[in-house]
Amino acid sequence: MNQKRIAIFGSTGSIGTQALDVIAANPDLFSAEILTAQTNDELLIKQALTFNPNVVVIGDERKYNTVKEALAHTDVKVFAGEKALIEAAAMDCYDMMLAAIVGYAGLKPTLMAISNGKAIGLANKETLVVAGDIVVNMAMEKKVPIIPVDSEHSAIFQCLVGEGRNKIEKIILTASGGPFLGKKPNFLVNVKRDHALQHPNWSMGAKISIDSATLMNKGLEMIEAKWLFNLRPEQIEVLVHAQSIIHSMVQFEDGSLKAQMGLPDMKLPIQYAMAFPERIPNNFPRYDFRKPNTLTFEEPDTKTFRNLALATDALYKGGNMPCILNAANEIAVFAFLRNRIGFLDMTEVVEQTMQKTHFIEKPTLEEYFESDGEARNFAASLIHM
Ligand code: NAD
Ligand code: MG
Repeated sequence: MNQKRIAIFGSTGSIGTQALDVIAANPDLFSAEILTAQTNDELLIKQALTFNPNVVVIGDERKYNTVKEALAHTDVKVFAGEKALIEAAAMDCYDMMLAAIVGYAGLKPTLMAISNGKAIGLANKETLVVAGDIVVNMAMEKKVPIIPVDSEHSAIFQCLVGEGRNKIEKIILTASGGPFLGKKPNFLVNVKRDHALQHPNWSMGAKISIDSATLMNKGLEMIEAKWLFNLRPEQIEVLVHAQSIIHSMVQFEDGSLKAQMGLPDMKLPIQYAMAFPERIPNNFPRYDFRKPNTLTFEEPDTKTFRNLALATDALYKGGNMPCILNAANEIAVFAFLRNRIGFLDMTEVVEQTMQKTHFIEKPTLEEYFESDGEARNFAASLIHM
C-alpha cells in the first residue's frame, strides 16, 4: 500500500486522537496532512509538533495567534475560522478525509472534500442525517468512496465485502443500550449530565455519549445506514446487545446472517476505514470466546427512550425531517450538558420542533441549511421559556 495522506477534521476529539494513534503506529502506511480543532489549541499545537502536517486549522479565530506563534519555527501552515475549514477541505495535499467533527458543523467540509474528489472515512454521522441524499449523490457523481467509521456501519460494510450484487433482506444494528439500559422514566427524570456521560462500553465525546444515553444515537445511526447502504426504512432493525461484541449484522435474501465481532474499540473501525481494502496487523486486545461471557439480545424500550421512536418517525417521513430532528437534538443536548434542561426534556424539545418546523419533501442543499437554522431557533426558543 502506498502511504495514504490523511486529513483529520476534528483531530482533537475522541475519534481524531484515536486516528492519530493509528497513524503513529503505522508511519509507513499513513501520514497526517491536515489537522483541525475547534477550541483546543494546546492539543492541536502538540499534535502539529508531533505529526508535522501541511496545514492546521483552528476554528476559534481568537486562538489563531497562539497557534501561529507556537508553530512559527515549523513549515506548518496555520489557518483559522469556519471558512478556512472548508478551504482546507478543498486542498490537494491529502487522499482521504477522516470526517471526525461532531454535529452539523461537519457537513460543509465533508461536502467540499467529496466535490474535491477525496475519499471519506466517515465518523460524522450527522452529515448523512442532515443531507444524506445530497451527500450520497455527490459521492456517486464524483466516484468517491464513503467508508463508514461508526462501528455498527463498519460492521455492516465489512459483512458486505465480497457480496457483490447479493441483496440485503435487512440489517440489524446492535445497540449497547447506554448507561441507563433497563431504567424507567421515574429514574431518568432525575438524571444529571455527569452520570449520563458515563458509557459502560465506550469512551466518547460528550455529544455522542448523551445521544447514546437517550438512544438518539441509534436513531441517527438508522438514518445513517439508510444512506450508506441504500436501504428502505423497513429493512433497518435495532437490537439491544449490552456487551457490544457483535457490532452489527446483515441478513441476506437466503436468510443467512453475517455478523462482525470483536472487543469494543473504535481504533479498529478507524484503522479499517483508513486501510481499506486492506487489513493491517495490530496488537489491540482480542475477544476470547473461552472466557465466561454471555451475549444477550433484547428489544429496545422505545416507550421509555422515545428519542429512538422519534428518529424512526423521521427516517420514515424523510425529506428534511431527519435534518430537523438533528438540529433540535443538537440544541437539546447542548442545553442538557449545561444543566439547562433535564434528561427527558431533550425528547420534548425534539418532538415539538419536529411538529413545528416547516416540512419539505425534497429539499435542496440550501433548504437543508435553512431547515437546520429554523429548527435550531425553534428548539432554542423552547429552552429559554
Ligand atoms: P468529540 O467531541 O470528542 O470531538 C469533536 C471534534 O470536532 C473535536 O476535534 C472538535 O474540536 C471538533 N469540533 C467541535 N465542534 C466543531 C465546530 N463547530 N467546528 C469545527 N470543529 C468542531 O467528538 P467524537 O466523539 O470524536 O465524535 C466525532 C464524530 O464521530 C461525531 O459525529 C460522532 O457521532 C462520531 N462517532 C464517534 C464515536 C466515538 O467513539 N467517539 C463513535 C462513532 C461515531
Ligand atoms: Mg455507533
